Amino acid sequence: MNLLDDTCYMCDDIATTDEHVPPKCLFPDGYRKNLITVRSCKKHNNDKARDDEFLRTLLVYDDDANKFGNDLFFGKTLRAVSRKPIAYANFFKPQLQINSPTGIVHKIDRNRFDQCVEHIVKGIYFYHYNKKIFSHLFVASPRFNSRTRKGNPYVKSEIIDFCNRVKSILQYEPIYGDNREIFQYRILSTKDGILFAAQFYESTEIFVSGSV
Ligand SMILES: [Zn+2]
Repeated sequence: MNLLDDTCYMCDDIATTDEHVPPKCLFPDGYRKNLITVRSCKKHNNDKARDDEFLRTLLVYDDDANKFGNDLFFGKTLRAVSRKPIAYANFFKPQLQINSPTGIVHKIDRNRFDQCVEHIVKGIYFYHYNKKIFSHLFVASPRFNSRTRKGNPYVKSEIIDFCNRVKSILQYEPIYGDNREIFQYRILSTKDGILFAAQFYESTEIFVSGSV
């Protein structure tokens, strides 16, 4: 592969557009300083506008998100929900009542969420190292790996261990992101693979590993 070719960050097709990683719609006006863009083919950019909305909806539907996440939820997201209620209802499928402050656990499309995260991590990896990742990445997030047991939410101990391990290995790596209230991350690439940790709206954390 000749990296001087203008090819897509996700595949080897010719790049035709610039794509924001993470998607630009996650960043409110005034918090779009030095957003990262990568070259992308048509398929891996234009086709994912709905996925970007899906990802934003999940990330801002969060009691613990900071005011930027809350503003996006009560502004753009609720407006979009009123325009396309069925599409948005499909983002979440209420499962059962639980003993939590909000009372309901929502089932989300984990595959779709993981794919959204993979796009971000592969884009950022390409941005940092000018190399592509073609293999599948493992994505974990304590917020989105919750299960329920007797009506109480919990996260599997393997997931907690994985997140803590990634967090610990990355703790001395530099923190990147010029709009840290919205998105900040750490990344490490070694011969063994890639580790990535990020936080959105000073709340939702995601942890990723994979081979490169
Ligand atoms: Zn592509």
